[in-house]
Parts: sequence; C-alpha cells; structure tokens
Amino acid sequence: MNASELLSSGSKILKKNKIETHQLDSELVLSSLLKKQRESLLINLNEEVSKNTINNFERLISRRAHKEPLAYILRSKEFWSKDFFVDKGALIPRPETELLCESVIKLFKNKKIHILDMGTGTGCIILSVLSEIKEAKGIGIDVSKEAIKVAKKNSKKLGLNKRVKFINKSLEDIYGYKFDLIVSNPPYIKTSDIKNLSDDVKRFEPKIALDGGKDGLDVIKKVIYKSNTILNKLGILALEIGYGQYFKVSQILKEKNFEEELLVRDYRDNVRCVLAKFKD
Ligand code: GLN
Repeated sequence: MNASELLSSGSKILKKNKIETHQLDSELVLSSLLKKQRESLLINLNEEVSKNTINNFERLISRRAHKEPLAYILRSKEFWSKDFFVDKGALIPRPETELLCESVIKLFKNKKIHILDMGTGTGCIILSVLSEIKEAKGIGIDVSKEAIKVAKKNSKKLGLNKRVKFINKSLEDIYGYKFDLIVSNPPYIKTSDIKNLSDDVKRFEPKIALDGGKDGLDVIKKVIYKSNTILNKLGILALEIGYGQYFKVSQILKEKNFEEELLVRDYRDNVRCVLAKFKD
C-alpha cells in the first residue's frame, strides 16, 4: 500500500466518525509516524509504507475516531512555534493563549524579571515567554502533579530548565516571594457549561484545568487576590479570561486595587487577555 491509499483510508474512517478535519488529521498522523513534515509526505504520495506503519496508523486513527484530541495521540502540540510535549495530564495549549504571551513579551523584552505562572499546565506560557526574554527567570506552579511532570519535560526539551522551576503547589501556598510578572490562564469555564463542550475536550482534557466553578470565576478570583499580595509594586498581572467574563473580572481587579494596563481582544473582538497593574 502507498501513502496516498493509506491516507485516504484513514480520512474515510475519520469522516464516518464525524471528525471535521479528517483529511488533515489523517495526514498529520501518518507524517508523525514517518517522522516527516506533512509537506514532504504530500510530495511523496507514491511511497510504499511498511506493514508496521500501517498497523500503527490504524491504531492511532481509531483513537482519533473515538474523539481523542490529535495532540494527545501525537503527544505534541505546536505553540509559539515550538513543539510542546503534551499528555492527558495537562490542558492542550490553545492558539488564543499566544495573545497573552505576545503582549507580555512586548512589555518586558530585554528586562531582567521574575515571572510566576499560576496553573502552568504544559508550561506553555512561561516557557514561551522565557524563550523570548533571555534575562528572565521564573516559577510555574500547578495543583496537578501530572501537569508539573509535563511542564518539567517541556522545560528540558526547550533547554530552559536552568531558568525555570516547576512546583506542584496550590497558589494559596505561595508566599515569601515577589514577582514582576504574574501570568495565568486559569480554568474559567462554568461548571454547568462543561457538558456543552465538544467530546474531544470534555472526555479527554483534565476537568481540573477547565472547571472554574459556578460562575467560572472561582480560580480567576483566587489568582487576582493572591497577586495583590505577591506582585511587585510596578509589576504586571496578565490573565486570560473566558468569553463574556471581562466585565466581572474588571470589577474584581478594581476591588483589589488594580487598574487595567492593556486589553487584548481575539479575532471575534472578545476581550481574552487583561493586563493589569497596581493603581498609583
Ligand atoms: N497554562 C496552561 C495553558 O495555558 C494551562 C492552563 C490550564 O490548565 N487552565 O495552556
């Protein structure tokens, strides 16, 4: 069997199982098994594939047909143009989170700062920021042991382990340090909305990384309250928030003596990131 035939058999199975990106996913699975870029696979479609590859391909396609996210199947997700290791212990990095990275990198480029990432997951935010701000150091915390394992793996993979520590801790247990920049993409989905998420997300991604309690603001509040005590006077708190949460988040920030420095909107014009600093 050649690559072209195998790809179309995979795509057909995925299409039957209502995977919208059936063609692309089939190509990504095969290129990953052949350890090739998707582009180079697509210009060599007549290449014969081994029996072993066919078996592995069928196994992975069947996982995707059961709605497992491709990132978990391939154990990797591109974020900030880097390859992050992922497994089901941590949330899969989302492209909109790059907005947060972009804005804090712009603000702090070339500055020697201390960063804290609350609820670091794969470590994608703090590691991307550290990769661009070479003078910076940081700590990533997460209540999930599994997530911390993933983040540590990524810090080694990206050669950043000398500048970052990942600790399995709750944000309530952080004291005695001050930070110049606190970043967080906390769980912000309302508990009652979790059932409406796609199967890919709700059946495979860690609930703890998604569930923000009754109004979705439980963890956001904790992050803001804690930041009030551990952010340096001239520091910045950068938060990713969910759809429609801006108004409430803005009130909570005010109550805790913060003022907004910058708002970042996504392509649908929703405020998705809030950068705040202490009121003068
Ligand atoms: N900080 C990680 C990310 O942005 C994990 C976020 C989370 O678990 N809610 O992907």
